[in-house]
Amino acid sequence: MDDQINCPQCNSENAYNDGSLWNCPDCGHEWNPDTAAAADAEAGQGVRDANGNPLADGDSVTVIKDLKVKGSSLVVKGGTKVKNIRLVDGADGHNIACKIDGIGAMNLKSEFVKKA
Ligand SMILES: [Zn+2]
Repeated sequence: MDDQINCPQCNSENAYNDGSLWNCPDCGHEWNPDTAAAADAEAGQGVRDANGNPLADGDSVTVIKDLKVKGSSLVVKGGTKVKNIRLVDGADGHNIACKIDGIGAMNLKSEFVKKA
């Protein structure tokens, strides 16, 4: 096994490890392969909207269908815009935490929203 890692920025083979970080002499990029791998893993299993677009913390989304709010008579109407979502690890598939005007804090399923 070769431990050599190519620079993720310019793909140079001259990158070297200085003990904690990798450095690229060609483009000056510095990175930590552990952090990069973790970010990749997160992106791979990332939360996606109804159209398959990746969602991230802080994104704005639009609800694509009427959603009943559990435990209340409130309904989040399709077309409702939701700002500043937060991705969560909802066991029941509700993987977006957000606050909706007139309703309050609630969780949504990413399959029922699309990126605004
Ligand atoms: Zn480079």
